[in-house]
Amino acid sequence: MPVVFVAASKLPTPFATFKMNGFLEEENGREHVVLSLGDVSDGEPVLGRVHSECLTGDALFSQRCDCGSQLEAALRAIAAEGRGVLLYLRQEGRGIGLMNKIRAYELQDGGADTVEANERLGFAADQRDYAICLPMLEHLGVKSLRLMTNNPRKVKALTDMGIKVAERVPLHTGQNPHNKLYLATKAGKLGHMMGNEHQSEVDPA
Ligand SMILES: [Zn+2]
Repeated sequence: MPVVFVAASKLPTPFATFKMNGFLEEENGREHVVLSLGDVSDGEPVLGRVHSECLTGDALFSQRCDCGSQLEAALRAIAAEGRGVLLYLRQEGRGIGLMNKIRAYELQDGGADTVEANERLGFAADQRDYAICLPMLEHLGVKSLRLMTNNPRKVKALTDMGIKVAERVPLHTGQNPHNKLYLATKAGKLGHMMGNEHQSEVDPA
């Protein structure tokens, strides 16, 4: 198993007091966190979010992207339901790291879009790896997810990893004048769905 459970504690937030579960990805030393609330091991689909770290959006209030508001909206939704999980994966900047993200932003300041900038730096548009999700969900006893995402590729990536996604729940939040182009690029080039569709996607496996 590439990911090992380390410890769990309470984490009080403005939305709810979550259980914070810490995991270590042994081969690279990355430390991941899953916030959970309520009984998530009863076999019923669990409202969930797989959130990749975005220091600028999650902690520094950046309006270049919509990560911070998506994180908050997901935690609020889980709190409102009284049950759910948020996987916080330490793969900054779609996996390229913080310094490379700043380099990419520099290129974007010069006119490139988010996909072009990553490609010019020699990275794939999306280098995220979701394989680490399965052992963390198994540890928590989560059998299937009602996944909060606008990204059908994320649903497919998780499904391919053997994670059952019972439903895709859209998250629409965080649009502002600074990230208009970024969100349009995500919709156009990365297949994100920004409409108000609400669809069920049943795991074919
Ligand atoms: Zn972000």
